[in-house]
Formats: sequence, structure tokens, C-alpha cells
Amino acid sequence: MRFLLASTNAGKLRDFEYALGLSGADGGFDLAPLPGLREIAAPAEDEASFADNARVKAIYYSRFAPGEMVLADDSGLEVDVLGGAPGVRSARYAEDCGFVVDSGLSVDERNNLCLLAALGEVPEERRGARYRCVLAAARDGVVVATGVGAVEGRIVAAARGDMGFGYDPYFVPEGVEETMAELDMERRLGLSHRGRALVDLLGRLGRG
Ligand code: IMP
Repeated sequence: MRFLLASTNAGKLRDFEYALGLSGADGGFDLAPLPGLREIAAPAEDEASFADNARVKAIYYSRFAPGEMVLADDSGLEVDVLGGAPGVRSARYAEDCGFVVDSGLSVDERNNLCLLAALGEVPEERRGARYRCVLAAARDGVVVATGVGAVEGRIVAAARGDMGFGYDPYFVPEGVEETMAELDMERRLGLSHRGRALVDLLGRLGRG
């Protein structure tokens, strides 16, 4: 079965391809970027959950590739003590803090400053968090299957490492001492919430 991924993000494609290899299912599944994606206007991602955003995107993009199985994802960071924030606002969390856009900082830097400000003096043992990903597969405007994946961890007070993106310099996955941004590619891929969501989705497709 062939999937067309509705994302131009090379890192996401790598996460999914790695998971396909691990799942032992890559013989029967093929993954490629959705052709012409850059020319397609992106739909709004303003639903209240990762699941609804993923479904909306999968339905929308599947209409540009008739008969094909189109995969779309939504992901982000959930911090327990913040009631699950930044959650679906992960990419735009800095806007919620009122940061000035032309502050000279990157979006990731602004988002991370916002996260640190929100956490304030909360001690590390109460900074439990997870990356979560929801994947939806749709064909001709109908969702065929969804999958969820998460990696548990905690938020540390000081940034470490420069290999990841987003919240990675502050996120320490359960079971390791390094932040995501300090882990080499192989170990990071093995902990991917996106990869886990794909394995979950393939399992559901297989059972469905
Ligand atoms: P999206 O799935 O591309 O919409 O990602 C939303 C946001 O969640 C990103 O902009 C990042 O801030 C955050 N995020 C999602 N996955 C990761 C990850 O693997 N590492 C770091 N940040 C992530």
C-alpha cells in the first residue's frame, strides 16, 4: 500500500521511514511526499485537538490526490502542570505570551522562552511532559484510519544540545539523561512520537 505524506518536512518523512523499517512492514508499505504540495494552500489548523487537526488535514489533502491514501499529522508538546499546554498551540505558543514577532529571536526560541516563563519556579519533578502525534490517513475525503504516538519526558530549566528543533533542547525523554537535542539521530528516531503513531496506524489498518 502506498501512502502520500501531506508534509514537506524532511525530518517528519525520516521519522516515518525509520518507523516503517522498524515495524517490519516496509515491504508492503511505501511512503512518498504528496506531489505538488508546495502549490496547495494549507488549510487552517485551528481545531481543539491534535486528532481533529490531523483529520481535517488528511481529508483536505486527500482531495488533491484522487484514489490515493494520504497521511497527515499533527503534533506538539503537552506539559502536565500547564494543563496540557502548549498542546495544539505548540508551533505558535509565543503568540500566547505576547512576544514581539520581530524580536530577533527564532520562532523556536520565542516558543521556548514562553514555555520557561509559564513554568516559572515549578520544580523539575513536577515538569512531566510528552510529545504527542496523531496521524490520520484519508482517501477521497474520507478518514480510513488514525494512529497515536507519544514519548513521555520532562522539561528541564536550561537548554542543552543543538541537534533537534522546537522544544528539543528542553525535553528529556524518560529513561535517558540527555535532552532530545543532545541525542544522536539513531537514538532520537527510536524515540519518535511520529514513528510510534505510524506503527499504531498501520496496526489499525491491518486489523480494520
Ligand atoms: P506540527 O506537527 O508540525 O504542527 O508541529 C507543531 C509544533 O510542535 C512544532 O512547531 C514544534 O514546536 C512542536 N514539536 C512537534 N514535534 C516535535 C519534536 O519532535 N521536537 C520538538 N518539537 C516538536
